[in-house]
Formats: sequence, C-alpha cells, structure tokens
Amino acid sequence: MSAVNLSYEFFPPKSERGQKNLLKVAQKLSRFNPGFVSVTYGAGGTTQAPTFDAVTAMSNAGLSTAAHLTCVDASRAQIDAIVDQYYHAGIRRIVALRGDSPDGIDAAYRPTPDGYAYASDLVAGIKSRRDIDISVSAYPERHPESGTWDAEIDNLKRKADAGADRAITQYFFKAETFLSFLEKVRAAGVTLPIVPGIMLQPNFEGLCNMSAKCGVAVPGDVRARFDRITADKDALKAETTQFARGLIEDLRAGGVTDFHLYTLNKSGIAAQISRSLTMPRRQNRVA
Ligand code: FAD
Repeated sequence: MSAVNLSYEFFPPKSERGQKNLLKVAQKLSRFNPGFVSVTYGAGGTTQAPTFDAVTAMSNAGLSTAAHLTCVDASRAQIDAIVDQYYHAGIRRIVALRGDSPDGIDAAYRPTPDGYAYASDLVAGIKSRRDIDISVSAYPERHPESGTWDAEIDNLKRKADAGADRAITQYFFKAETFLSFLEKVRAAGVTLPIVPGIMLQPNFEGLCNMSAKCGVAVPGDVRARFDRITADKDALKAETTQFARGLIEDLRAGGVTDFHLYTLNKSGIAAQISRSLTMPRRQNRVA
C-alpha cells in the first residue's frame, strides 16, 4: 500500500500551562513527519489570541502550522488584519471556514453585514491578498444546512474555484461514507484533494451528542461496539484506537493516502495510530 501523509488538529488551550502542554504534544507527534498541524478557532472568534499564540508557538518550534479562521462576527477589514498578522508571523497555511452562529451551532447563521458571508468568500478574500495555502471543510454526510447534495457539492466547487488547495472532512464512522462522497464529488468534476478527518475522541457518549448536533450519523453497530465498554476509560481508549485504525485501513484499501487526525490535544491515541502507519513493523513493535 502507498505511504500515508498525516496532519494533526489541535484546539487552542486557555492557559499558559495548557499552551506549554500542547507544544509538547505537538512535538511528540512531529516525529511522524506530519504535512502540517492545525489549530482551531473558537466559535464566534472567541479564541483569536490563544489560537494565534498556539499557531505561532508551533510554527516557531519548526512545525508547518495552519491557523483556522472563521467569518463569524468580524468585518472583512478585521479578518484581513488577522490574515496579515499571520502572514507577517511567517504562517503560510489557513483553514478557512464560515463558522457557526455565536448563539450556538443550532442557531440560525447570519452573515456579518460587512463581513465575509461564507467560506468561499473568505477563501477568495485571503487568496486575493496573500500567497497562503488554504484548506476548507467538506461534509461526507452533507452540512446540516445544505438541503441537497447538489447544494453541498456546488458549495465545495465554489470553494475550490475560489482557490482552496484541499478540503478536510467532518469526521464519519464508515469508510463507505467517505468513499461514496468522494465519488459524488469527482462525478461533479471537482478535483480538489479531499482529506478524511479521523476523530480520536474516546468519550463515545460525548461524541454521540456532538454527532447529533453536526449531522454525523452514528451507525448501530458502532454504537453497540462502544456501548459494551462505556465505564472503563482505558478500554474506551483502546477501542477508539482500534476503531480509528480499522477505519483508516478500510480507507487505504479504497486508495486514500492522506489523513487528518482530530487529536483532542492528546498524543496517546494519535501517536499509536501514527506509529503503526508510518514506522516499519520492527520499529513499531519496539517503540
Ligand atoms: P461553508 O462552506 O460556508 O458552508 C456552510 C453552509 O452554507 C453549507 O450548508 C453551504 O451549502 C451553505 N452555503 C455556502 N455558500 C452559500 C451561499 N452563497 N448561499 C447560501 N448557502 C450557502 N468551526 C469553528 O468555529 N472553528 C474551527 O476552527 C472549525 N474548524 C473546522 C474544521 C473542519 C475540518 C471542519 C469540517 C469544520 C470546522 N468547523 C470549525 C465547523 C464549521 O465552522 C461549521 O461546520 C460551520 O457550520 C460551517 O462552516 P463551513 O466553512 O463548512 O461553511
């Protein structure tokens, strides 16, 4: 099978101690040579400073780092200033998103009057100003606000046409979900590279709650698999590792080579999976 390319996603810690810990986690994972790491942007732009601090700390530590950025609650001028700030700090990667309403994921999204309305507008805005590599989102089970597959894929096409370099997907539980989405996207003539997002959340109950909010189906057999072990944290971690590993193997069998791991700022599960994917068997056993 072809070699894999990995990227890791983190969220911005709130405290200075959290920032230091995160840097350690990122440095541990850097041994697996990720193409890049990324740091999310809090809902409503609430983590602008912590995101900037985490992004620049990782970049200064030698990791190619992407800053997530959303359109929420900010004018174009404010967003442009943030982009420039990143550019001047040496950051050349952005994950460009629309974001959700500051009132919550369930509340109706309203574009800021003088802001970028959708992710495709943000991509165009960034590309018109700076030479920056841009990742965007994609949804193998459709974004909850996309009424039809045509709407979903038209949106992805708009983002590709605006200059996006790749899309990273929402997490999902079955390889077929991603592979059939990819088929639809390619059939529509969209050639943008699409990287599956792999969730490493061992708190399965919490993950089910989040999935319900963001339109991700939890298949019955997956639920049954995790329901057997909800009380034991170590067993849940082991099952999460095994599940994600299996999902990645199924995707690799379908020809996928790039994977974006949602790390939840922990190195344990991400390192185990990365080691098994990137290191020769012997080294993998010893490590
Ligand atoms: P868009 O691509 O703009 O699309 C959102 C919806 O609007 C879609 O249903 C689309 O069909 C519709 N739409 C697009 N253009 C138009 C138009 N012109 N007219 C009408 N409808 C339109 N959120 C955060 O707050 N911070 C993060 O750091 C973050 N990181 C993420 C990373 C990844 C990989 C993913 C998959 C999601 C991330 N999110 C993040 C969540 C994301 O912000 C939400 O899912 C949000 O609801 C949509 O953002 P988007 O960029 O996908 O939106």
